[in-house]
Amino acid sequence: MSGWLAIAGLGPGDPGLWTADVADALAAATDVVGYIPYVARVPDREGLTKHATDNRVEVERATHALSLAAKGHRVVVVSSGDPGVFAMAAAVFEALEQAPEAFSDLEIIVLPGITAMLAASAAVGAILGHDFCAINLSDNLKPWSLIEKRLCLAVEADFACAFYNPRSKARPEGFGRALDLLKDICEPKRLITFARAVSTAEERLVTVSLSDATPEMADMRTVVLLGSSLTRRIQRPGQGDIIYTPRSVPV
Ligand code: SAH
Repeated sequence: MSGWLAIAGLGPGDPGLWTADVADALAAATDVVGYIPYVARVPDREGLTKHATDNRVEVERATHALSLAAKGHRVVVVSSGDPGVFAMAAAVFEALEQAPEAFSDLEIIVLPGITAMLAASAAVGAILGHDFCAINLSDNLKPWSLIEKRLCLAVEADFACAFYNPRSKARPEGFGRALDLLKDICEPKRLITFARAVSTAEERLVTVSLSDATPEMADMRTVVLLGSSLTRRIQRPGQGDIIYTPRSVPV
């Protein structure tokens, strides 16, 4: 049987949020390749070899996956959320671009997943109910000045925003700077949601006014959703508040 490569999104955590196509690809796979905690989410079974690696070697991992598939293996590269959102799909295509002839016959497909911002927006209501932007706050792969520029322009245009990779042990400072910038531009009552480990047993959802937001509210398992100027809260005592952005902007 000839090999193939599927680049699949495992969603935010709960296996109930895998798509049927992702479940089918994993059931048919001989090999799963990915970052250690994501590979661990795939149940062990006979005939399935797991290749779990550290996150910092993405293109190497992608090349390894391509080579396995070219040898005839049925390979699923797993990402959390959606594989095209700050994840492995682009890394695989970067690896492919480096040696396109070597893999010219190989079937490669991308299987989407539920990305963190959509799971988080759903968990609190519909913060992303109108126009929005997604920004990766890590400056590992781009200069911080570009992050600041994009933050400012997105907020100036009154997009709701989803911030991925807000804060890590290696980058403790950046998110504080980002928050200071947002506090300079937005009104103090602007709503901001910290959604941690959405759809897992450790899920924590906290929505505060921007003036009350502190850097410590975010970590690497948090996606931060900043509302637009129209985002509001419906209080539902006993049910949990709903945070949403109306679909229309008054003319
Ligand atoms: N491909 C992933 C994003 C990878 S970047 C996706 O589509 O969701 C990693 C960042 O995603 C984390 O730092 C965090 O900001 C966010 N994230 C991933 N899973 C999450 C979850 N279950 N809850 C909250 N944020 C999550």
